[in-house]
Amino acid sequence: MYQYSRAIYRSIKDLIDPYVDPPTQLEYRRAVLAACEETVERLAKDPRYFAKPERTLFQEIRRYFPITHQAQVNWAVSEGIGAAVDFIEEQIESGVFDGGVSRCRATTRKGKPCQRAPLPEREYCPSHQHLETRRAA
Ligand SMILES: [Zn+2]
Repeated sequence: MYQYSRAIYRSIKDLIDPYVDPPTQLEYRRAVLAACEETVERLAKDPRYFAKPERTLFQEIRRYFPITHQAQVNWAVSEGIGAAVDFIEEQIESGVFDGGVSRCRATTRKGKPCQRAPLPEREYCPSHQHLETRRAA
């Protein structure tokens, strides 16, 4: 997943505020790179429960860019995150996704996806394992 955070960073690093002193600019670049990496890592770990990752990342880094470049940064972030999401979805569909922790497939009584880990080689957690038995029967 590393290549995706790097690609996002590369596409926006030259847009970072040029009117700050060099140490500050270095600090900005580090902060932007760290935010890109954190976002992509989180996406890889938890793709189904990370809503609007491009928005999260943009909100986090927009302060490092001059107002005149915000639209371009927003666009680059959306493109870069979109590419990472497509890649993860392809991996999930072909069953080779290994970046994430698997989750129980059940829905809780509150209508939210169950957050517990499934039993080994099963699709449901201990509290929901009866769902699997019922389906199989
Ligand atoms: Zn469960």
